[in-house]
Amino acid sequence: MPTSMVTIAGAGLSGLAAALTIVRRGGHVRVLERRGDVGARFHGDFQGLENWSTGSDVLEELRSIGIDVAFEHTPFRECAFFDPDGREYECRSREPLWYLVRRGTDAGSLDQALKTQALAEGVEIQFGQNVERLPDGGIVAHGPRRVDAIAVGYVFPTDRRDGAFGAVSDDLAPAGYAYLLICRGRATLATCMFADFHNDKQYLARTVEFFERTVGVRVRDATRFGGFGAMAADPTVRRGRILIAGEAAGLQDALFGFGMRYALMSGHLAGRACADGHLAAYEEAYRRRLRPWIRAAAVNRYAYGRFGDRGYRALVRRVCRASDPRAWLRRHYAPHWWTPLVYPIARAHAARLEAAPAFHECRDDCDCTYCRCVREIHSQEGRGPDAEALRQISERQAAC
Ligand SMILES: Cc1cc2nc3c(=O)[nH]c(=O)nc-3n(C[C@H](O)[C@H](O)[C@H](O)COP(=O)(O)OP(=O)(O)OC[C@H]3O[C@@H](n4cnc5c(N)ncnc54)[C@H](O)[C@@H]3O)c2cc1C
Repeated sequence: MPTSMVTIAGAGLSGLAAALTIVRRGGHVRVLERRGDVGARFHGDFQGLENWSTGSDVLEELRSIGIDVAFEHTPFRECAFFDPDGREYECRSREPLWYLVRRGTDAGSLDQALKTQALAEGVEIQFGQNVERLPDGGIVAHGPRRVDAIAVGYVFPTDRRDGAFGAVSDDLAPAGYAYLLICRGRATLATCMFADFHNDKQYLARTVEFFERTVGVRVRDATRFGGFGAMAADPTVRRGRILIAGEAAGLQDALFGFGMRYALMSGHLAGRACADGHLAAYEEAYRRRLRPWIRAAAVNRYAYGRFGDRGYRALVRRVCRASDPRAWLRRHYAPHWWTPLVYPIARAHAARLEAAPAFHECRDDCDCTYCRCVREIHSQEGRGPDAEALRQISERQAAC
């Protein structure tokens, strides 16, 4: 049982999951958050808490690690997918494929529910604290520090009935996918891109046009948002006395960016290791419980990158024709016997992409989401432009 205080940098999903685990095990914890509130990185947009990578339900998994599922969540059993040729496929599952949750600072969001639970259980959260180092050890849970993917979109009111729509096409989302999620009069539309980041405005405009035409939704009174994600093919989860959880370690689904489960589970495992005073247990748990799936996702991303639209066409057709799409996705996400054989190639490919000059290119005075995110990372790390310059860039982008 630890007697000393554990410091956690970042009050996101991973940081709060870690903090809850520590206090539950009798430890003391202090969470330092650079922003003014929990969830301030998000914009009230809908995200999907995936429910296919395990046979049991994700909500059961969250309860089992001590997280109250008091946040708003709506099960989705049906969705429509468009393949790269614009052909529509229906996907139906007996069990929920995912739970729709809201991210941001509003009541009912996943972030705020976690904060409420954490405060009620005695977690101390200090806002406005930008942590650059943890000299006495602790948990780094500060979210992504590199831009491997971006998501740009709108949240807006709608009177269209609830539904979920996805589209895989390089015209809408290079190497990624576009989505439209509608729930109780609110909608989130976005393009999630893994390449050609500087042209986000063009892809977002096409995505709006696509869903307006195919689904009949009207994007009006919309608020624009943009965000980024980091996904490592070979995450580092510990440096000496520091444990690294969530996207800070690059723990993300490299195929489609479903990172919330990784963040919550890795935070819980890091918190448990700290509380038990056995830091190596986190590395062991990571290797056993998360790494095989991280590697399988890296292999899948490599494969889809190579096969492009052909691969996505086959994916959409197969998942929608499967008698149990949830089980099909679970098999697709799971490590297979060939995963260790292809993984070194996938990892080397990811490293080559990262080393390419275009990966780091951030243009002066450019207001695209990618450049804004890179500047945000630089400011978090204490390098790059000042807060005023960032604010002006964000304002210009919001006005687009
Ligand atoms: C637009 C978008 C859509 C997404 N959609 C989905 C989806 O549908 N399904 C899904 O599963 N995942 C989705 N994701 C990914 C998911 O949101 C993340 O994987 C998850 O939130 C990561 O949690 P985290 O705790 O690692 O980091 P974060 O949630 O980013 O939390 C990190 C916290 O640390 C704080 N912080 C940063 N730097 C410092 C510092 N120096 N000192 C102190 N505090 C700091 C931040 O302000 C933040 O509050 C999406 C991401 C984006 C951007």
